[in-house]
Amino acid sequence: MRRPEADPYLPGHGDHSYEVLHYDLDVDYALDNNHLTGRATLTVRANIDLDDLTLDLHHLKVVKVTGVRLKRHTHRSGRLRLVLQQPLAAGEEATVTITYRGAPKPVKDKVGDAGWEELEDGVIVASQPGGAPSWYPCNDRPDNKATYRITVTAASDYLVVANGVRTEQRRRASRTTWTYEMTDPMATYLATVQIGRYAEHEIRAVVPLTAALPPARRRAFDIAFADQPAMLELFTRLFGPYPFSGYRVVVTDDELEIPLEAQGLSIFGSNLLTRDWDSQRLIAHELAHQWFGNAVTLRTLRDIWLHEGFACYSEWLWSEESGGPTADQRAHEHWGRLAELGQRLVLGDPGPDDVFDDRVYKRGALTLHALRLTAGDEAFFDLLRAWVDRHRGGNVTTDDFVELAEERLDVPVRPIIDAWVRSGPLPPLPVRR
Ligand SMILES: [Zn+2]
Repeated sequence: MRRPEADPYLPGHGDHSYEVLHYDLDVDYALDNNHLTGRATLTVRANIDLDDLTLDLHHLKVVKVTGVRLKRHTHRSGRLRLVLQQPLAAGEEATVTITYRGAPKPVKDKVGDAGWEELEDGVIVASQPGGAPSWYPCNDRPDNKATYRITVTAASDYLVVANGVRTEQRRRASRTTWTYEMTDPMATYLATVQIGRYAEHEIRAVVPLTAALPPARRRAFDIAFADQPAMLELFTRLFGPYPFSGYRVVVTDDELEIPLEAQGLSIFGSNLLTRDWDSQRLIAHELAHQWFGNAVTLRTLRDIWLHEGFACYSEWLWSEESGGPTADQRAHEHWGRLAELGQRLVLGDPGPDDVFDDRVYKRGALTLHALRLTAGDEAFFDLLRAWVDRHRGGNVTTDDFVELAEERLDVPVRPIIDAWVRSGPLPPLPVRR
C-alpha cells in the first residue's frame, strides 16, 4: 500500500508509520576512491501496526540486515523496504542494523541536490533538505528527530567533525576513528560529517566554541570571525540560552556557494573569510539557525520561513548591534526592494521551486519586523524567547507560531500573519507602536 508523502515538497522521502528514536552510525570512509562502508543501528517505534519498515537510502548498496527477521527486502529509487516476518504492533520498539556500502554522492531532488559530497581534498555533508539518505539509512523527514552516535574512521592525516560532543578519538596505524554523540533530538538533514586537513582551535565565548580549518587560513579566519563571540552573546541575550552543548565552525579550503547549517555546527567556504557585510551577515545567519531551524524545526518544508525568515532577521539584529544600519533601516530597505519586484509570493506556502528563494528570507524577516513594530520590542523579544523555550527539541508549524504570538502579544496577530504569510501582495510595514 502506498502511504501519503511525508512532505509534499520532498516527495519520496520519509515515512509517518514509525519513528526512529536513535541512530548509531558507524562509517568507514576511504578518501582516495570515495568508498564508504557503513553500519547503521536504528532504534525504531511503530506508530501503527506494521509489517514493513520503509527507509531512505540513496546510491548505496545494502549488504545485510540484522536485528529483525525479514521475509525479504527491496531497494528501489532510494527506498529500502524491509518486510518483517513478525509484524510490529503500534507502540512497539525494535532495533534494526543495516550494513551498506558504495560510493556516496548527493541526492537529487526538485528543491536541490544535497548530501555527501567530495571536496578537492576531503568531504562535506550538507543535507538540507533531502541529502541524509546519501550516507545513512534513515526515516528522512524533519519531524522525526532522534539522538545520534556517529563514528567515522578515516585516514589519520584528516580531521573528522560530526555533530555533538566528541567522545572518542582512537588512532590505529594510519587510520583514526572518531566518535561524536548528539544527545539533543536532531532532524535527519542536520546530521553531518566533515572531513578535511583541518586544525582545530578553541575560541573564548559564552558557549564552548571551536573552529576547524586549514592551518594556512588561520589569520584570515581570526579577522573574519572576530565578532562571532559577540554574536553568540547577542543571540543568547535575545533568543535565550544557546540550545546545544557547543558550537563549531568548519571552514573548507574550497569556496562554497553558500554556507551551511548543521546541528551544533556550521560550514563556511574559504571565500567567506572577509569582513564584508555579506560574510558577516552569513556568519550571524548560520549561528541563528541553531535556535531557529535546529532546536526549533519545521514539520514540513512549506513552513521554511520559520527557519529562514528568523535567521535573516537575526542578520539585521546583528547589523544594528555592530553599529551598522538598524534592523528598522534594513527592513525598510528590503521592503523597498521586494515592492519593486512586485511579485506575489505566499510566504507560508511558497511552493517547492521557491523554498530557498531570497524573497522567502526577506519577507519572513519583514513579517517578524511587522510584529515587532506592532507589539513593541519587549513583547516581541519575549515572544522569540518563549518560542524557543516551548518548542526546543521539537517541530513546529506556522499555526504553532500564531498560537503562541496570540498568547504573548496584546495586539491582533492574525491580521498580520494573514497579510504577510498567507496572502500574496506585499503589505505596508506598520508604524512603530
Ligand atoms: Zn538559512
